[in-house]
Amino acid sequence: MSLGMGPGWRNVWLAAALGLASAWACADSPLCRLGLRQSPIDIVATVKHALPALEFHYRAAPLKIANDGHTARVRFSNAGGLKIGNESFTLQQFHFHTPGGDRLAGEQFAMAAHLLHKSRTGRLLALVVLFRQGGENPALAALWPQIPEPVDGDHLIAGASVDASRLLPGSRSYYRYEGSLTASPCTENVTWLVMKQPLELSPAQLLFWRARFADNIRAPQPLHGRIVQENG
Ligand SMILES: [Zn+2]
Repeated sequence: MSLGMGPGWRNVWLAAALGLASAWACADSPLCRLGLRQSPIDIVATVKHALPALEFHYRAAPLKIANDGHTARVRFSNAGGLKIGNESFTLQQFHFHTPGGDRLAGEQFAMAAHLLHKSRTGRLLALVVLFRQGGENPALAALWPQIPEPVDGDHLIAGASVDASRLLPGSRSYYRYEGSLTASPCTENVTWLVMKQPLELSPAQLLFWRARFADNIRAPQPLHGRIVQENG
């Protein structure tokens, strides 16, 4: 995947995007300890704002999935994107974290999907879908059996496709804050959108994941005066 930022930046972004636990556990970037706009956060107080509607233009694409030992990642090259106001972002990949990272009024979620996007000018946008334990999630039911056993690179699954819109909740309401990559070097200036409506996954689906992956998200970070905007 080319992010158009040179190989060094690309590796940093990918490592962080994948939520490489080891990358932040032994964080050597001062930004991870001292940054003032870090992710994830606990969303408690918000300011209502006339935020633009999210216009999703995701489309089905061949399923390309990797197990990197920390998470399962689905990568896209032509699966559409997301338009917000007059800015368009291309969907690059999604992956999962346990627990959910971003919290809502102190609630920690069982899992989160991070859908990563990039604008034509290189702006990074992470969209978070949170999962509570509950009923079986059909999108995860289709995806989990396709997670490769070997810890290696991308697997193109013959005959399988994936549509990221199946990971979206029915409500398009969201929170917005300015955050960072969640792994070293914890680069800031990443826009975070957190969908307000969580999805569900079944206890069996969570167990399936936990049998393969250790917890892979850092704790909520201080707000340092940041304001979380809420649409509506
Ligand atoms: Zn992530």
